[in-house]
Amino acid sequence: MTLSFDLTAEGARDALRARATPAEKPSLIGLTRAELGAALVDAGIVPERQAKMRSQQLWHWMYVRGVSDFAHMFNISKDLRAELDKHFTVARPEIVEEQISADGTRKWLFRFPPRGAGRPVEIETVYIPEEGRGTLCISSQVGCTLTCSFCHTGTQKLVRNLTTEEILAQLLTGRDRLGDFPDRDTPDGAIVPAEGRKVSNIVMMGMGEPLYNFEAVKKALLIASDGDGLSLSKRRITLSTSGVVPEIFRTGEEIGVMLAISLHATNDDLRDLLVPINKKYPLKELIAACRAYPGLSNARRITFEYVMLKDVNDSLDDAKALVKLLKGIPAKINLIPFNPWPGTNYQCSDWETIEKFADYINNAGYASPIRTPRGRDILAACGQLKSESERMRKVDRLALEAMMIAGHGEA
Ligand code: SAH
Ligand code: SF4
Repeated sequence: MTLSFDLTAEGARDALRARATPAEKPSLIGLTRAELGAALVDAGIVPERQAKMRSQQLWHWMYVRGVSDFAHMFNISKDLRAELDKHFTVARPEIVEEQISADGTRKWLFRFPPRGAGRPVEIETVYIPEEGRGTLCISSQVGCTLTCSFCHTGTQKLVRNLTTEEILAQLLTGRDRLGDFPDRDTPDGAIVPAEGRKVSNIVMMGMGEPLYNFEAVKKALLIASDGDGLSLSKRRITLSTSGVVPEIFRTGEEIGVMLAISLHATNDDLRDLLVPINKKYPLKELIAACRAYPGLSNARRITFEYVMLKDVNDSLDDAKALVKLLKGIPAKINLIPFNPWPGTNYQCSDWETIEKFADYINNAGYASPIRTPRGRDILAACGQLKSESERMRKVDRLALEAMMIAGHGEA
């Protein structure tokens, strides 16, 4: 059974409208503490000497309590709350649609303002609940400038980078909808981990190449892992890259999260075809950057994603080459069954072939889970789009969803 709430419907939409961001007011979400203090002072509503204390107060309300309306910030005077509301917003973005799969996977379609893109943009965020954790798969860009040949997002032009606020909004709104802030209720019947946080892990595995939007992604992940705020452990945040070598060291050094590499091939000839950024940063450089990743150890392994493409990269010789290539790197290998999309020439490897490949890798000492696709039923339901809306084309959305759900990592 699939549940789909089209929030463009009256009623459901009204409930969210009050909290939707009015475009004219700048958001306080996504600013560093220093920027937050400066914004309050610059607006003339907080004296310099109170800036630090006020920004700490706001930080707590925004990121610990998950409040999306100044009116609920009870330890701030009514007058100051009114001033804050006049100048700024902490509201959530517009959710166009929420879908819930029978297996508990959830998908939200967000709409953000154009910010130079010409028209509003839409992106999706996926929540995947499992036994001991709940993973949120977050997007970093609208579209992608790279052109991996098996990835449908790669055939879409980049529309724009997401802002820090928009990256964080995916996490905050996901937590809202799951009742994952103090004093909030989890919706009846929601499938969430039995204990602990509903969103315990984040993977930057949605749309876009996160390392081509480095500064915004860095800022968002530092706020997401801030111990006095959202407080997600950096070990539970995984950033996936197709191999933007110059930013890999910085990712470890400046953000300190777990790394996943979209490897998919073990020699340059094939990787040039599958992941064309390989022509710029070939395997030798990519593997060297992995070996030098700050903090790398057996307890902090790199995840190598490997999409299983029939007769392309799925032979036992490929498995052997993979083990050889990764020798000496603390690694996990994540085998992703290929999710076909309309117009692709690739096919997913046979199940038997995938198992043989996985066995070889397991015997060589690697944990190599095969990602079982989740939320397949809501992929099907995504075809029910309204023609008047400015959503992505159906095929683009199907491919993106397939990618996010299949590749959600092991963090
Ligand atoms: N752009 C980043 C983040 C995307 S992560 C990156 O490429 O790493 C999503 C994962 O799904 C990536 O490993 C990507 O290569 C993989 N993927 C893309 N299209 C896919 C498809 N059709 N089937 C299965 N996996 C796919
Ligand atoms: Fe972009 Fe990642 Fe898709 Fe490659 S796999 S086109 S980098 S989103």
